[in-house]
Amino acid sequence: MDFYDTFLDETHRALRATCRKFAEREIAPHAVEWEEAGSFPRELYRKAAEAGFLGTAFPEEVGGAGGTPLHALMMVEGLMRGGSTGVVASLTSLGIALPAVVQSGDAALIERVARPVLRGERIAALAITEPGTGSDVAGVRTRAVRDGDDYVVNGSKTFISNGQIADLFVVAVRTDPRASRSRGISLLVIEADRPGFQRGRNLEKIGFHAQDTSELFFDDCRVPASNLLGVENAGFGYLMESLQQERLVLAAGACAAAEGCLALTVDYVKQRRAFGKALGELQHVRFELAELATKVQLARTFLDELFLRHMAGEHLVREVSMAKWWITDVQFEVADRCLQLFGGYGYMTEYPVSRHFVDARIQRIYGGANEIMKELIARQIGLDD
Ligand SMILES: Cc1cc2nc3c(=O)[nH]c(=O)nc-3n(C[C@H](O)[C@H](O)[C@H](O)COP(=O)(O)OP(=O)(O)OC[C@H]3O[C@@H](n4cnc5c(N)ncnc54)[C@H](O)[C@@H]3O)c2cc1C
Repeated sequence: MDFYDTFLDETHRALRATCRKFAEREIAPHAVEWEEAGSFPRELYRKAAEAGFLGTAFPEEVGGAGGTPLHALMMVEGLMRGGSTGVVASLTSLGIALPAVVQSGDAALIERVARPVLRGERIAALAITEPGTGSDVAGVRTRAVRDGDDYVVNGSKTFISNGQIADLFVVAVRTDPRASRSRGISLLVIEADRPGFQRGRNLEKIGFHAQDTSELFFDDCRVPASNLLGVENAGFGYLMESLQQERLVLAAGACAAAEGCLALTVDYVKQRRAFGKALGELQHVRFELAELATKVQLARTFLDELFLRHMAGEHLVREVSMAKWWITDVQFEVADRCLQLFGGYGYMTEYPVSRHFVDARIQRIYGGANEIMKELIARQIGLDD
C-alpha cells in the first residue's frame, strides 16, 4: 500500500473506485463518438448525481453529499483515470461555479440554483474571462448597473466552459467602476433564458472536443438584484476563496491523468513489437518510462503532503501554486513522451494517448496560467520583501 492510501478512509477509497468505474462505464466507451459530435449528453450529469458523486464536497443542507475537500479530490482522481479530461472538467464544473452560490447566496438562490444543479437537472458555469482580460481577473469590464430592483448587464465573456449547454452562469461583473480594480467586482447569477443574454460561437479548440467553450454576450440584460451573490463589490474575494481547492483539484486531476497515460503506454509497449522484440524490452523505451514514472511518483508524493495539510486547514498558496504548475507540466510531458512511444498510432485520434496529449495542453493555461503560479511563488519566497 502507498503512503498515499494510509490517510484515506473507506469512504475516500469507495468514492474513488465508484468514480473510476463510472468513467470506465459511462465515459470511456463514448469518448471518440462524443469528440466527433463536439458534445456529450446532458444525461451524464443526472447519471453522475444518481451515482452519488456530483455534489461530493457540497454540504447536505444544500443538497450535496456532505463530503470533505479530500472527497472532491478523490472524485476527480477517479474520473480522470478514464482519460477524458474535457468531459470530466465539464461534468465537475459545478465545483467552480457553485461554491460562491453556496457560501454567499441566500436561501432562495440555494433552492432555485444550487439544488437543481446538484441533482444534475440544471448545468452551471462560471464566467470570468473576457476578450480583454483573462489572467488579470481584476480587469473585468462587463458592467452591471443597478436600476430599481434589477441590474442591467452589458458586456461579453469568452472561453466559458459549458457556455453552450449551461442553464445558468455565475458571472463576474463590474458594479463600481470608480473603486480600485478588484474592489468593484460582484458576482451575479444570470440564467440563460433572460432577454438580452446570448450565447456566441462554440469555439473550435485543439483538444477538449467533447466539451463546449463559448463566448457569451449581455446586451441590456436585466437581472433581478436578488441574483447578487453576497455583498455588492465583494465578488473578487469570493472568487479567491475557493482558489486553493480548485488548483489542488486541478493538480490532482493532472497527476491521475498522467498515471492513466503511463499505464496505457506500459500496456502498449509490452504488445507492440519492433526488430524482433517487444518495445518494452528496448533500453530507450524502458528508460523513458522509468523517468516518467519517477516524475509522476514525485508528483504523487508532493500531492499526498498537500492533501494532508490542506485538510488540516492550512492555507497553502505557495505549495498549491507549485503543485498546479509543476504537475500540469509533468502531465503534458508524460503525454508527449508516451505519444512518441506509440509511433504513428499515437497521432491517430482513435488512440486515447492522442487525447491525453491535446487535453493536457490546456491544463497549463487555465485555473491560473502556470506563469501566474510562478509569480505567486516568487512573491511567497520573499522576492518582494
Ligand atoms: C478550454 C478552456 C476552458 C476555459 N474555461 C473557462 C471558464 O469556464 N470560465 C472562465 O472564466 N474562463 C475559462 N477559461 C479561460 C482561462 O481561465 C484563461 O484563458 C486563462 O486564465 C488565461 O487568460 P488569457 O487567455 O486571457 O491569457 P492572458 O491573460 O492574455 O495571458 C497570456 C499568457 O501571458 C502570460 N502572462 C499573463 N500574465 C502574466 C504575468 N503576470 N506574469 C507572467 N506571465 C503572464 C502567461 O503565459 C499567459 O498564459 C478557459 C480557457 C480555455 C482555453
